[in-house]
Amino acid sequence: MAHRKLNAEKIVVASHNAGKIKEIAELLAVYKSTVISSAELNLSEPVEDGDSFIANAEIKARSASKESGLVALADDSGLVVPALNGDPGIHSARFALHPETNKRDFNYAMKKLWDGLEAIKDDDRSAYFACALSVCWADGHMESFEGRVYGTLIYPLRGKNGFGYDPMFVPDGYDKSFGEMTAAEKQKISHRANAFKQLTNACF
Ligand code: IMP
Repeated sequence: MAHRKLNAEKIVVASHNAGKIKEIAELLAVYKSTVISSAELNLSEPVEDGDSFIANAEIKARSASKESGLVALADDSGLVVPALNGDPGIHSARFALHPETNKRDFNYAMKKLWDGLEAIKDDDRSAYFACALSVCWADGHMESFEGRVYGTLIYPLRGKNGFGYDPMFVPDGYDKSFGEMTAAEKQKISHRANAFKQLTNACF
């Protein structure tokens, strides 16, 4: 089926993360789309109770589009570890909440993940990052895409670049972890870049 096109429209990005919005605005600038954040429009943050990355991206895009009457773009991402039945998956951000401080602590999360792998005595250390992107129009029409990058988990951690689980993930075909790569190197192969490529190929 043909994908619906985005034509130089004003797009609400359903995220309260300033870094993410800036990155998306830069990516969409070439398509002459103006980006406005859901925070600027005072939109509410819906409960993300979907059971997949795409389901959660669609919940956020649908809610922002409904409230604003504009086209809305939302993403959802995380790290999937098959040996741990797909954990932390859609709970990747929550998995990093430190029980004592109740703040996100990725050194704590990566150690916990590694300990979990060591405990099951399964030597499969494969993992992938996934990023879902959903666009919802005011009439409810939705287009969704999922990008992935496959690799292997390592411990001890390597590198200080990037964010989240980057220092424990070595993408297939590379020797460096995401934490050791420059932003440009990661951008060439990342799950997010792949999802954006699919979106722009389909909708622009
Ligand atoms: P989101 O903002 O709800 O999509 O949260 C996704 C979570 O997954 C983040 O907090 C990170 O923990 C993790 N994550 C997603 N993408 C990446 C990445 O590119 N590198 C490292 N961690 C990531």
